[in-house]
Amino acid sequence: MTASAVPVRNWAGNLTYTSPRIHRPTDLGALAALVRDTPRIRALGSGHSFNQVADSPHDLVRLDMLPREVRIDGDTVTVSAGTRYADLAIELHRRGYALGNLASLPHISVAGSCATGTHGSGDRQRCLAAAVRGIEVMGSDGETVWVRRGAADFPGVVVGLGALGIVTRLTLEIEPTFEVSQRVRLDVPLDEVTADVDAIFGAAYSVSVFTDWRGPTGRVWLKHREGEPEGAWHGGRSASVPQHPVPGVPTEPATEQLGVPGPWCERLPHFRPELPPSAGAELQSELYLPRAAAPEAIAALRGLGERIAPVLYVGEVRTMRADDLWLSPAYGRDSVAFHFTWHRDPAAVTPVLRAVEERLAPLGARPHWGKITTMAPADVVGLFERSGDFAGLLERFDPDGTFRTPFVDAHFPRS
Ligand SMILES: Cc1cc2nc3c(=O)[nH]c(=O)nc-3n(C[C@H](O)[C@H](O)[C@H](O)COP(=O)(O)OP(=O)(O)OC[C@H]3O[C@@H](n4cnc5c(N)ncnc54)[C@H](O)[C@@H]3O)c2cc1C
Repeated sequence: MTASAVPVRNWAGNLTYTSPRIHRPTDLGALAALVRDTPRIRALGSGHSFNQVADSPHDLVRLDMLPREVRIDGDTVTVSAGTRYADLAIELHRRGYALGNLASLPHISVAGSCATGTHGSGDRQRCLAAAVRGIEVMGSDGETVWVRRGAADFPGVVVGLGALGIVTRLTLEIEPTFEVSQRVRLDVPLDEVTADVDAIFGAAYSVSVFTDWRGPTGRVWLKHREGEPEGAWHGGRSASVPQHPVPGVPTEPATEQLGVPGPWCERLPHFRPELPPSAGAELQSELYLPRAAAPEAIAALRGLGERIAPVLYVGEVRTMRADDLWLSPAYGRDSVAFHFTWHRDPAAVTPVLRAVEERLAPLGARPHWGKITTMAPADVVGLFERSGDFAGLLERFDPDGTFRTPFVDAHFPRS
């Protein structure tokens, strides 16, 4: 077992974990003993969240040094929780399989991504956690239980914010490997995006619209699944050189474009696993709205464009299908998500983010669990109709508060 030197920062460097110790056990027995012997502990994934969701003033444990397991069984794969999507994807593709969806970056851990409801884009795609068929959770006694799809608790456990215990393995749905080609269309009028939401987001397997909300246009990333019919929409003009989602940034970290087909895992994320993703020193926030609210939300954000653009690297609009996971921001409704990659300047960003959230809240906005928000925890929890059921799960899974943190207490105070 090793323990990291502290303090340790999250990926973006905007947060220093307050934990005095970060353990890295090298086998499951050592993890069980650690959990059993430590009064307050919580799992840390790859540290890509921007808020305190993964932080604790007590012990933290990372699972990235546990033996890696990738066990394929029919149409599922069982994977050790600390595995990064990048590593899982390479192994799946090598053996002829695929996941249906990935986030914008593959550097993140499977357990950490599922715990926060992380998503990619696509009208037919649900969040990554919706691919979970079973989840193995270690309780404070060091014993593990499997919770499988079909069990009453299952939809509450999968997007669990790390609060129910240490997830040690997950079983995910897989499918035969497939190829994707990626094209970018430039100078697409935002008026057209507003008018043609269904045509644009239905034009490919996975679609993202990037904009700064100030200019009149956006850039549309189309990830086409080979073998499926192409959508009829061809607005704007075709990019003739590769693009990075963040304007002005060197394009090497971006996945291959210009319509060259390649494996799903090398096209569905925007960023290559071996290079740093996104802008770097940044903050992120994201709001999920009912899909039908997209035109009104786009109009509201354009109205704030002069305030947003000076503190923004880039904004992204994505869509996703409804799911049934209690704390998933896409719970119960087909959704459109408005993502913001902000400058790492909280003083400048916070008032603008507050204005954005005030405009989108009346449209039903739910914030991403792993990104920054100005919404009060009680208001956030009130947006999730099954949050009372989740509070009940917390009492049952963690009666002694072993996995509780200030973030959990603020959102789900003890009764
Ligand atoms: C550059 C960048 C791009 C991003 N792109 C996207 C995107 O496309 N879509 C999107 O939705 N989000 C995106 N995010 C956000 C990111 O996906 C989430 O913050 C995700 O939770 C990060 O996973 P992680 O492994 O780093 O988890 P962490 O941030 O380390 O932890 C998140 C939560 O998971 C819990 N957790 C971790 N491991 C375990 C475990 N073994 N058992 C129990 N709980 C555990 C932690 O306790 C915590 O509550 C992006 C972030 C960055 C930095």
